[in-house]
Amino acid sequence: MKTLAGFIILMGIILLFADAELLAPLEGFAVYFIVGGLVMLAIAQFAGNGEKHWLCRIGFHDFERQERVEEVPAMRWYRCKRCGKEKRAASIV
Ligand SMILES: [Zn+2]
Repeated sequence: MKTLAGFIILMGIILLFADAELLAPLEGFAVYFIVGGLVMLAIAQFAGNGEKHWLCRIGFHDFERQERVEEVPAMRWYRCKRCGKEKRAASIV
């Protein structure tokens, strides 16, 4: 779904910048391609992971501090309380 949306956006951009006369009649559609692709991408983003909290889906995770990263002592693991997403970040304490 995301790959398809990306492909459509790419098509739109190519159409937008293509100055070949053959493609000229299609230039008007380029914007629709891009907008359509972005809408598809947004839908995929929001509908794709139904089990996630909506805040997580837009990137606002509720990270909780976990144990230290073994190979990098200055970093800790953080895990989201809602969706379980993990990340590493520097931590002094
Ligand atoms: Zn999350």
